[in-house]
Amino acid sequence: MRGARDNNLRDVDLDLPLGALTVLCGPSGSGKSSLAYDTLHREGQRRYLEALMIAGTGSLRRPDVEAIDHLPPTIALDQRVRGFASHESVASVSELGVGLAVLYGRTGLQRCPRCGRPVVPKSHDTIVAELLAMPVGTRLTLEAPVTSGPGVLEEIQRAGFSRVRVDGRMARIEEIGAVPEGAPLRVVVDRIKIEPDRRGRIHDGVRLASRAGRGVVIAVTEAETVFVDRPLCVHDGMELPALEPGRFRFRAGEPGLGLDEAAAAVEVGGERVLDVLGGTIGALDGFLAGLPASEVAKDLLDDLRRRVGILVSLGLAGLPLERPAEHVSRGELLRLRLARQVSSRVSGVLFVLDEPAAGLDDEAAGAVLGLVRDLVEQGNTVVAVDHHPVVLAGADHVVEFGPGAGPHGGTVVYAGPVAGLAEQDTATGRLFAGRLEGGVEGPTSGEALDLAGRRLVRGVVNVVSGPSGSGKTVLLKSIVDAASGRFERLVDAEVGSSAKHKRSSPATFTGVWSLLRDLLAQTREARIQGFDAGTFSLNTKGGRCETCQGAGEVRVVLDPLPDVWLTCDVCHGRRFQTDVLQVRWKGLAPDELLALDIEEAHRVLAGNPKLERILRALRDVGLGYVQLGRPADTLSGGEFRRLRLARELARSTGPDLVVADDPSLGLHPVDTLALMKAFGRLAEAGATVVLASGDPWVVGAAAHAVRLADPRP
Ligand SMILES: [Zn+2]
Ligand SMILES: [Zn+2]
Repeated sequence: MRGARDNNLRDVDLDLPLGALTVLCGPSGSGKSSLAYDTLHREGQRRYLEALMIAGTGSLRRPDVEAIDHLPPTIALDQRVRGFASHESVASVSELGVGLAVLYGRTGLQRCPRCGRPVVPKSHDTIVAELLAMPVGTRLTLEAPVTSGPGVLEEIQRAGFSRVRVDGRMARIEEIGAVPEGAPLRVVVDRIKIEPDRRGRIHDGVRLASRAGRGVVIAVTEAETVFVDRPLCVHDGMELPALEPGRFRFRAGEPGLGLDEAAAAVEVGGERVLDVLGGTIGALDGFLAGLPASEVAKDLLDDLRRRVGILVSLGLAGLPLERPAEHVSRGELLRLRLARQVSSRVSGVLFVLDEPAAGLDDEAAGAVLGLVRDLVEQGNTVVAVDHHPVVLAGADHVVEFGPGAGPHGGTVVYAGPVAGLAEQDTATGRLFAGRLEGGVEGPTSGEALDLAGRRLVRGVVNVVSGPSGSGKTVLLKSIVDAASGRFERLVDAEVGSSAKHKRSSPATFTGVWSLLRDLLAQTREARIQGFDAGTFSLNTKGGRCETCQGAGEVRVVLDPLPDVWLTCDVCHGRRFQTDVLQVRWKGLAPDELLALDIEEAHRVLAGNPKLERILRALRDVGLGYVQLGRPADTLSGGEFRRLRLARELARSTGPDLVVADDPSLGLHPVDTLALMKAFGRLAEAGATVVLASGDPWVVGAAAHAVRLADPRP
């Protein structure tokens, strides 16, 4: 790669080894993501879309790079990749839904949806084998049920049979005058004594009986056994469609594509498919472990168990199978897709991975690294953006960007084997060598404070720590409940259900855009044109581009492939109508203002106290590298959480109590230390801060820790 200049990249030349794992690291905003996504992945995707020749709707911007040679087809497992179709769920993304469909279609027990009795169709060979397994000398009568009616006895006689059973009694046809209306009537097809050499005759008998009985064969010895050779409930005559995997490939909640009544009644190991899909990946793991490995299902079960086992090792046991993909955290989604790629055994592909191990403990990070190494073994090239020590230690090649963020980054400060990284005096080098140091931030003591049965300290940074699954988030929620009413202003920086809208962005979310709209509307140009603040809104009609409704991009549905977003052809990604784009404040058009990153905006837009307060808060929580207008739905979960935190911190009155769950998720430790400084400043201003985190950098900077025990035995 030669001359990469996207975003803050400064003419980066880089040689990446093919067929190996390269880890890109560096502080947030140092340029590693620009290289991975805006350059490598964008160019890979552009070449791929050109090959597909998708016409008309728009175009992918060519990345600002002189040359990229030997670029393999590129797949990004990117926390920021959008565009899941609405029916995608954990079950479909992981392909466990397909695996379950095959399991149920091949090995399921059908039950009559009307009466609940089991329906077990058997082939003629199976029926014969079961009859031959009876003790030698057993007297067997093969019979077929028929419908009684006028002329039926004559018909039976013409077909060559001489005996019938009426109402349970066997008789020769000529001995019977007439069959009472509605009486149970059977044709006696053959009477045989079970001997090993009678296979041929029994087989003929079964075939004849099945033809006469329309698929139902009754074997009478001292007892009666009813066989069916097609899915049919003999109790009430209910016909069922044949059992096959296709019947379990349904889309929940979509009429026509839904699961039919008979398929819903099918059981494996006593469980219906909807009950299994209603559970978690961990519950599925337990369910599969309890199934007996029959001949038919052995390979199938082994494969499913292996795939589910991988997901459990990746820390995904708690994920419900039915959860829609759009409601799954991006980190979880990435791991689901990573596991699926490894299972599909593709090769010759460049995978670009976005922080695959963010927020994971060493054990789960080791499982992620194992999968990534599998991808490399299969003949792929992997470029991962990450700074987890476990992933770094497992890399073949490391590239660190820096030295700082935004305009202070954009250069390669180290490229080489991981062993050399520890000697570098760079952010990641210091981290890797254990030379990165932090200390307690803010006040260190205060009066005791009891909340939700836990002892905390007022006016300092508190942290609830413990391994994943120990209940940190649950405790944090009870602390929030216990605190409401006792604290004047409570800031809960938990990710709520608040929709991450395509037109929502850091600028609109924090009120920066509303301030800028007022400033734009007060310019001479805007007043001459008659524009008001509403003209610069992206949410309402007026000044925005209506083709893309102010998004700058249009969605192209490539079902079944993930949707892609292409730059809008009408506004060329500028989001507003041409005349609106003529208005400038501080020399910048509306789209140029939105394109500023927060660090730049803080510099360029200085002088307005309200703006400055919000931008400083955004910078303090480590979002300095994020563009003001970046769509909120492309922010990672951690970024969105910090965005909410910044919005609260920017308010004019300082909060009394600040609560945040996993605030450092996805942050480089250097940025985590900066974030902890911001929390320390809040504590200095009198706030009580309570964080939940397993991150040693967060725990190390807290004045008081509540440690929860490991729930695992
Ligand atoms: Zn039935
Ligand atoms: Zn447009």
